[in-house]
Amino acid sequence: MKIWYCQFDSSKVGGLLNQEIFRHMRRVYDQHEISVPNHFLEIPRWIAVVDGLLGEPENADFREFPNGTKLGILAYLRKAEILLGSVLDSNFQQWLYASEWLGGHGWPGRIILGGYISDERVAELLTANSSVVWCPTVDALAHWLPDMYTGGAPSYRLFADWDTVPRLQLSRGCKHSCSFCTIPQGVEENEWADVLAEVDSFKPLSFRFVYLDDKTFGQAKNWTWLAELYMVIKEYNPAFEGFWVQTTVGMLTKWAEEWYFEYHIKIAEVGIEIPEDTFLKSFRKPYRVKALPGMFAALSKTGLEFVPNLIFGAEGQDYGVTADFLSEYEDQIAWCNLFILTTYADSKGAPGVADTGDLDETASGRSWLSMREIDEMERTVRSIMDWVELKGE
Ligand code: SF4
Repeated sequence: MKIWYCQFDSSKVGGLLNQEIFRHMRRVYDQHEISVPNHFLEIPRWIAVVDGLLGEPENADFREFPNGTKLGILAYLRKAEILLGSVLDSNFQQWLYASEWLGGHGWPGRIILGGYISDERVAELLTANSSVVWCPTVDALAHWLPDMYTGGAPSYRLFADWDTVPRLQLSRGCKHSCSFCTIPQGVEENEWADVLAEVDSFKPLSFRFVYLDDKTFGQAKNWTWLAELYMVIKEYNPAFEGFWVQTTVGMLTKWAEEWYFEYHIKIAEVGIEIPEDTFLKSFRKPYRVKALPGMFAALSKTGLEFVPNLIFGAEGQDYGVTADFLSEYEDQIAWCNLFILTTYADSKGAPGVADTGDLDETASGRSWLSMREIDEMERTVRSIMDWVELKGE
């Protein structure tokens, strides 16, 4: 049975600004000698997870497609017997179109999808083609492919020797409740055996860093496993340098030294978002601006690379505040992750989606911004990208 794990090319997703951010990130990673896959910045972890659960089927392969709905691609998709995909708001239209087209052309196969879209969008996919099935969890695959499901550990065999930054998860969820965020509240730790199996699955890959997928690293107590995991990885991959985490201002202030020197954490991403208390309060972010000097003082005692996550496009946002933050801490900022404020349907404090375009994190337009404000936001983001790249030369 011919199975294709399908992915739409991330470099072509969304509006022009989003595509520029994507290319910018590639250049930034190059500057920092972090090698990532050619067509997207990481290997889609879901493919490794599903391939492992299905016991590495003989006729399975990975296929990446341009983010478009060209008939040639759809005719090509028809060659597979089972298509598996992960659906996001940013590629929903592609999957919808592909499902409708294949359904309308007598394709006898099955489309198995999972992902992160609203129930309404799932319903649209299911009605587009009767051969579409939705798996809310990866284990639901056992229902649709019972003869193949083995429940095995993740497998990266289809990506052997790819340069990447593999993702490892020690825990799920987050204790905080930032208004724009969709991560479930509360923290659950993963099992040691599963974590070890995941680390083992990275063996075919080429990498210097492992990215911790935990949403706020440090909340789950099992972060101390990193000391041992470092040794496990280092033994089969001498090029391994350490871990890359995402965390909060408070956590980093408290643990920077210990994490860097004892637990081999080398890069920390932190949700700075908009460094102004009015916004931090309305976003329910777990820090205030007065905490920043303490965090940078703690960082200065380490060699940790600091990466702020920054938000653009909030109503009434003064970009000068973000520019001042970048300038004040320029010497301690490695690069920035740039996001356009998005109101997901299931955000923890969503103000309500005024327009379906507001759901698309890859587009610049927002119902609460005028054309002039969108233009200002785009110019600001572009100037920050230039600043980061000049700084890295
Ligand atoms: S934005 Fe980060 S800190 Fe806030 S709720 Fe989401 S994961 Fe937690």
